[in-house]
Amino acid sequence: MMRSGDPYDVLVIGGGLAGLSAAHHAALRGLSVASLDDGGHMGGLVMNVGRIDGYAAAGAVSGIELAAAQLEAIVELGVEIVPDRAAGLTLDGGIVAVTTGSGVHRAKTVVLASGARLKSLGVPGEQALFGRGVSQCADCDAGFFVDQKIVVVGGGDAALQEALHLSDYVSGITLVTRGDALRAKQSYVALAADNPKFEFRWSTQVTEILGGDGVEGVRVTPAGGVDAQEIACSGVFVFVGLEPSVCTLPDNIERNANGFIVTDPNFQTSVPGVYAVGAVRAGYSGQLASAVGEAAAAIAGLRIV
Ligand SMILES: Cc1cc2nc3c(=O)[nH]c(=O)nc-3n(C[C@H](O)[C@H](O)[C@H](O)COP(=O)(O)OP(=O)(O)OC[C@H]3O[C@@H](n4cnc5c(N)ncnc54)[C@H](O)[C@@H]3O)c2cc1C
Repeated sequence: MMRSGDPYDVLVIGGGLAGLSAAHHAALRGLSVASLDDGGHMGGLVMNVGRIDGYAAAGAVSGIELAAAQLEAIVELGVEIVPDRAAGLTLDGGIVAVTTGSGVHRAKTVVLASGARLKSLGVPGEQALFGRGVSQCADCDAGFFVDQKIVVVGGGDAALQEALHLSDYVSGITLVTRGDALRAKQSYVALAADNPKFEFRWSTQVTEILGGDGVEGVRVTPAGGVDAQEIACSGVFVFVGLEPSVCTLPDNIERNANGFIVTDPNFQTSVPGVYAVGAVRAGYSGQLASAVGEAAAAIAGLRIV
């Protein structure tokens, strides 16, 4: 029985699928668990995914359905839900103190599962036109672009998955990528290559998003000294990778050059009692199945006294 003021056995920072899974497995072990999320609605990146791919257990389920089922399961198991942002954590002997707007929460073990954010391009026009033609959510915004021409920026799984979804709505997609080939799953690449709505601009960077009240086009610069060109479109979807979402961490928690948290094979960081799983972790595969598996493995290895 946990008494007021006792530290939690496990405090999970982040309520995406990695964090929800960590909380679930910890609660199944009978540990006292709190789950902290800053979003107001939990679920993280999958909340914008209309049809989860590559996660057989989910069948043809949406990200929202998957996250809702996982949240329901942890609530039933008695996990305390704390709808607040972790500002930072400090180490105090064997206890980790996590600071939030609603106070300080103490735990014997902390699991960092704060995930990642979609990167922006950082070009002129992008911020001003966000929500007025610039988007990072195909599932939310596809309906605004029926029979219109759009640009999708990026060449990885997320860009291709979202572009394929958008192709059911729009009249044409110009996919602009810095690389000279796609880095996505072969199944996505094959579908896009066979789809007459797709046009590809290889080795090309978007340097500006053009428009007034809404998007009217993009300025692009191909590699090799070719002059800048304009592509007319009414929507721009940006999927150019992820950057970690990390609260203020003690300096002795090792991170890689891009800010992702480094762990050992048991998902422990360089500080005992602090673990990292899912998209915030250096070396994460990018797949939901790994996020869930990492969370289960990290919790299975805990020795709580
Ligand atoms: C467009 C797109 C499509 C995708 N499609 C698929 C797919 O079909 N199949 C698949 O397997 N994978 C897919 N993925 C990848 C998958 O969504 C991610 O790998 C997975 O969701 C990562 O989960 P996570 O819990 O580690 O992180 P996240 O989902 O990023 O969750 C992190 C959570 O932590 C919260 N948080 C952040 N900072 C703090 C803080 N300081 N305090 C408290 N809370 C905080 C965030 O609000 C968020 O709720 C897709 C990704 C994208 C971008």
